[in-house]
Amino acid sequence: MSQPTQPAASAAAFDLHETDLFAFCRKGGNVVGDLAVRDLPRILAETAADAPASARDETFRYTLTGFAKDEAAEPGMAATQRLYVDVTVSGRVWLDCQRCLQVYAEPVATDMRFEVVSTEEAAEEASMDDDEVDVIVGSKKFSVLELLEDEVLLALPTAPKHVTCPTVHDSLVTGADGEVEPEAPPEEKRPSPFAALAGLKTKH
Ligand SMILES: [Zn+2]
Repeated sequence: MSQPTQPAASAAAFDLHETDLFAFCRKGGNVVGDLAVRDLPRILAETAADAPASARDETFRYTLTGFAKDEAAEPGMAATQRLYVDVTVSGRVWLDCQRCLQVYAEPVATDMRFEVVSTEEAAEEASMDDDEVDVIVGSKKFSVLELLEDEVLLALPTAPKHVTCPTVHDSLVTGADGEVEPEAPPEEKRPSPFAALAGLKTKH
């Protein structure tokens, strides 16, 4: 896979595919860069088939800021070093609007803080400690690219729609003045709480 195009100056020495994430956090690393959609296979897969040809060339701007904090797991216990990374990604993804069925660019802007731990076991413990911060298992060859791609995918709406559709479908027009009904989405595709419970049961 090719390197992302036009890396920002500070991203030049930064390897998106293999980063020592622990060292990055400990030294308070900071990087800003651009990432081309064409280098993100899972975003390409989500991109609408009739998106403009230029959709592949669009870029996401990302920032990564690592830091370390000495914290005691419980009051009175010895402090240990905990590692964190703040991640933002912004850009847009071309999707099909479910209301008017036309392609549009969905803006994406994420801002997340992750605690970086070294093992799956530590990740499970850490996520029980703190619901506010997501936990990721770092490595010395961590793929920041995949993390950024995950962030974009998680930010995509389950039911993509224009804020205001450019053309109004007949079924949405009411009254003589042809005003659009004020947002009446028929059925959001959200799992019912009962379905979620059923899913939990089968996991055990
Ligand atoms: Zn639309």
